[in-house]
Amino acid sequence: SLHVQNINAWFSDQLVLKHIHMDLSANQITAIIGPSGCGKSTFIRCLNRMHETVPGARVTGDIFLEESSIYQMPATEVRRRIGMVFREPNPFPTLSIFDNLTLALRLGGMRNHRQLRERAERSLRVAGLWDEVKDKLNQNALVLSLGQQQRLCIARALALEPDVLLLDEPASALDPVSTLQIEELMEQIKKDLTIVIVTHNLQQAARIADTTAFFLDGELVEWGDTSLLFTKPSDRRTEDYIAGRF
Ligand code: ATP
Ligand code: MG
Repeated sequence: SLHVQNINAWFSDQLVLKHIHMDLSANQITAIIGPSGCGKSTFIRCLNRMHETVPGARVTGDIFLEESSIYQMPATEVRRRIGMVFREPNPFPTLSIFDNLTLALRLGGMRNHRQLRERAERSLRVAGLWDEVKDKLNQNALVLSLGQQQRLCIARALALEPDVLLLDEPASALDPVSTLQIEELMEQIKKDLTIVIVTHNLQQAARIADTTAFFLDGELVEWGDTSLLFTKPSDRRTEDYIAGRF
């Protein structure tokens, strides 16, 4: 689980996240919704300290992974334990499917080929991709369809056995069938993970998220049980957004 304590985030002098307090529970899918520019991507990038790497960006506050502040952890540990998947599938374009899955493990010191092979196979199976790619492991990752590339990116994150998986509109660039595959995949893996997904697809949030958080202008307007948020929002602005009034 992640515990977000009073996060403020800036780009230069523009405050884009304002006093965010939130708990992101383990074994659940939390959806982040809200209009374009409200700070969803900035928020999810704060959760693995990626926001800080953007020129001009600044963050205050604290974020705890279990009991430990991610600001006290080595960057390599943050990156391993908190995986991230983006809107556009971004496999390493010059590497094989196998090397995409195992590069970070090898850089982390895992040398045993059988161990690497097992880890690759396991994460591909979890991602529902094993049967489709088992005969192509040494082919370039770009031979895969876009939907398969996205599941490969999820498998690549899972290969590091993370605690948290962050996904920023992971299905927005995909066709409806690939979208459903990604949704099913998230439901299968949530038992072992804390999952946070940014989506502007409200039906998608309603389908898969246990908890939903509504952001507006850098503010976390409200968050809680998904069906409750959609049926009985406590803030007028949430109600308006859900009703499509802005
Ligand atoms: P979308 O739904 O369009 O992806 P979002 O909710 O993810 O939007 P963010 O990308 O987090 O929104 O942007 C929040 C605010 O920060 C916006 O006002 C945006 O213009 C600003 N912003 C985002 N990235 C940068 C950047 N690299 N430099 C400066 N400002 C930025
Ligand atoms: Mg965004």
